[in-house]
Amino acid sequence: MVIVPKILRNVSLTAHPKGCELSVRNQIDWVRQQLEQHSDTRYQLPHTNFFPKKVLIVGGSTGYGLASRIVAACVGKADTINVSVEREPSETKTATPGWYNTTVFERYAKTHGLKAVSVLKDAYAKTTKAEVASLIAKHFGTIDLLIYSLASPARTDSSGTTYRSVIKPIGNQYGALSVDVTTGMVSKVIVEPADQSQIEETVKVMGGEDWNDWITYLLQCNLLSDGFKTVSYSYIGPELTYPIYRSGTIGKAKEDLENSARLLNETLQSVNGSAYVSVNKALVTRASAVIPVVPLYIALLYRVMKDLNLHEECIHQIYRLFSERLYTGTSIPLDEKGRIRIDDWEMSDSVQQAVHLLWSAQSEGQAIIGGDLEGFITEYAKIHGFGFDEINYSEDIDPRII
Ligand code: NAD
Repeated sequence: MVIVPKILRNVSLTAHPKGCELSVRNQIDWVRQQLEQHSDTRYQLPHTNFFPKKVLIVGGSTGYGLASRIVAACVGKADTINVSVEREPSETKTATPGWYNTTVFERYAKTHGLKAVSVLKDAYAKTTKAEVASLIAKHFGTIDLLIYSLASPARTDSSGTTYRSVIKPIGNQYGALSVDVTTGMVSKVIVEPADQSQIEETVKVMGGEDWNDWITYLLQCNLLSDGFKTVSYSYIGPELTYPIYRSGTIGKAKEDLENSARLLNETLQSVNGSAYVSVNKALVTRASAVIPVVPLYIALLYRVMKDLNLHEECIHQIYRLFSERLYTGTSIPLDEKGRIRIDDWEMSDSVQQAVHLLWSAQSEGQAIIGGDLEGFITEYAKIHGFGFDEINYSEDIDPRII
């Protein structure tokens, strides 16, 4: 079949196998060039002897989780396990990008002598945790690091009850400018506030409970190494997005995640372990593209950060997280709330002031002024395997072959 992008309400329904392969390859190549030639001098060289050797990534097939898997394997030579939910390809339907990414990554890792396995099942389920535990026991012994990088719209618990996460303000209606990525026109979006049950459900899905379940279960099974670390990803962003993000339902879930890190630090004392939340930069991923206002903010942010040579993608952020925060051989720098910050470039005064200036130039009913909407659109296409000059998208291919 000829595979073309099909987008419904900012969600891509298709993925291109050859493009996903290139997207994973490009990330691996960037890391390799960095190690061999130190090609991007914005980043320090890693102290690879401190890096973990056995790593579990929950949500490791796309975005920040995939980048974590690539950095762990390609920099630290770690064996890795991924847990993610994917759709397999059929003769007439493409797989999810995560399925293609995982296939390509695992093939690469194995040809380089690394173990790389996946459990493509619901991370919230107890049965998935049990399956992962027996895989760890059989192939890895113990794990040194667990990265928790889930972004999920729903969670079904063991009683069969399904909870849904929503991205809504709390208390008051929120009205702000956003951009229609298909037309480039700026419009006003109004989002109604969440009710109490929506707040609680979002915390249930995206808060710290499931992260805590993973760690306590694997600890009980004696599968965590001495000095074990676990990291979960969060976002704060500028005040202008607070009503929809940090002070909204998802912000409540992120607060819960941060509280869980504090509790996990106590739980992990028996293995001299530690738990961290890393606050990362706003980036185009499958999860972030559906948040109201975020496409406009990201388009403006990308313009500013690219102009200042501060732009990063997931792979660069995670490379910095591992080599300049987590595994330096010295103590990990934390903010006043005990969090790791790799959103420092995004949140610097020079970047935020320039974004603010651009934001105030936008008006309803007009085309976006001065933003990098093209950058947003291209990156969204690329994470689904589209938009690469090297690929002939009119070619008839079998979506099952990669
Ligand atoms: P993403 O959509 O690219 O990745 C989400 C991962 O979770 C995928 O591997 C997906 O398969 C997996 N997943 C979803 N539901 C699952 C389930 N039930 N069981 C197993 N796997 C499941 O998203 P992302 O943007 O990389 O987000 C990862 C984390 O990073 C989230 O916690 C997010 O809040 C955080 N974060 C994102 C940004 C951003 O701008 N994208 C910024 C800072 C922090």
